[in-house]
Amino acid sequence: MSTTLIVNEIFRSVQGEGTRAGSICAFVRLTGCNLRCNWCDTRYAWDDGRPMEIADVLARLAELHCPLVEVTGGEPLLQSGATELLERLCDENYEVLLETNGSYNISSVDSRVVRIVDFKCPSSGHVSANKWINVEYLTGRDEVKFVIADRDDFDFAVEALREHDLSGICTVIFSPLWNAMDTAVLAGWLIEEGLDVRLGLQLHKIIWPDEERGV
Ligand code: SF4
Repeated sequence: MSTTLIVNEIFRSVQGEGTRAGSICAFVRLTGCNLRCNWCDTRYAWDDGRPMEIADVLARLAELHCPLVEVTGGEPLLQSGATELLERLCDENYEVLLETNGSYNISSVDSRVVRIVDFKCPSSGHVSANKWINVEYLTGRDEVKFVIADRDDFDFAVEALREHDLSGICTVIFSPLWNAMDTAVLAGWLIEEGLDVRLGLQLHKIIWPDEERGV
């Protein structure tokens, strides 16, 4: 029997974040999230979605002809079938990215997948959800992201960076919260501290500032 997922949207666009920023990418946004971040920009994915069998998700992706695929949410790992989808995508030779909020154990995710772990800073309201055990499962091909809204978030992220030696494991990205954190100020803090991290801008928001959903 084929596994069914609740899917919010599937679309092709420009990858806005991370080390593949600027690449054309197909996105599979799964419905549902276990968190309710104060500044969440994908609230429309919390509940809205329709059931799709994995075979149908793969068929839709085949139509999009895009070798790079990101599975995102919401929180993709909330749905038990997500790991199967990720494995099937790898089997079909896609380059596969998973964006996850750091509150689920990533050890069951296929090792061919690039895991982008978005650990939560204080402004999200969900610091206690961070599962730091995930650091043990990260490899050099994965990425860690911190969304920074203010100085408290920055200081929290720097402490986590140092405590877990994150830059020694994989690429770490500090991303300013859209419409809240001044990018130049964040850039200044990064320079001042001389951190081994990247400043991550959300390209899709710069290109399409008025679009709420994926385009
Ligand atoms: S984890 Fe992501 S999708 Fe879930 S509430 Fe936070 S920002 Fe929104």
